[in-house]
Amino acid sequence: MTIAQSITAIRSQIEEYCHECKRNPKNVLLLAVSKTKPASDIATAYQAGLRHFGENYCQEALLKQQKLGAYDITWHFIGPIQSNKTKLIAQYFSWVHSVDSLRIAKRLSEQRPDNLPPLNICLQVNVSGEQSKSGISLEELPALCSAVAALPRLKLRGVMAIPAPQDDYEQQRLPYKILAQAVVNLNRPELDTFSYGMTDDLKAAITEGATIVRIGTALFGSREELSR
Ligand SMILES: *Cc1c(COP(=O)(O)O)cnc(C)c1O
Repeated sequence: MTIAQSITAIRSQIEEYCHECKRNPKNVLLLAVSKTKPASDIATAYQAGLRHFGENYCQEALLKQQKLGAYDITWHFIGPIQSNKTKLIAQYFSWVHSVDSLRIAKRLSEQRPDNLPPLNICLQVNVSGEQSKSGISLEELPALCSAVAALPRLKLRGVMAIPAPQDDYEQQRLPYKILAQAVVNLNRPELDTFSYGMTDDLKAAITEGATIVRIGTALFGSREELSR
């Protein structure tokens, strides 16, 4: 399949899954995860209609942004954040999905340039409680939400999760359901974003209320995973 065909296929899957759970597909943003893929793939996806792209590695993303300066792309940072990268992230992205400490959030707020709108933020929550994964625990969510919401140059939008991989559909739904309930309990109606779901758990994520789905493999093919 070409990238354009993959986009059509994913779009129709999103529509089908939304239809099954009576959601409006307009409320699910397709974020194309282009990490490790060349700028030319992004250009192809752009020409096929995509405008939102997600990258995990700052340096790699900035090189692609330079090449694609003429394109009207909204860039999302979705990878682990090192504190020495916050300045560039605050400058060159519109969204950050992977905030998991107040220290990083404060740096992003301080370093967000004044001429840009506030940086859109999702807090990454480690719902499955895996030791090695980044993300805060559910218990830490209320306090971090309050603290981040008070930072002047950030706009807290919602939560992001990368649950432990599961083959079973019901098992895939569970962490998203738990996190959605935790967000309801926060009683913050301004939180409108659930960054849920990748290639292998798209249906479960949409059923549980994903508003941004982060899709890489199904759009661009498998990645040569580099160790960094
Ligand atoms: C790589 C990555 C994705 C995309 O995963 P696929 O399984 O290729 O769709 C989504 N979210 C994050 C945070 C990623 O690092």
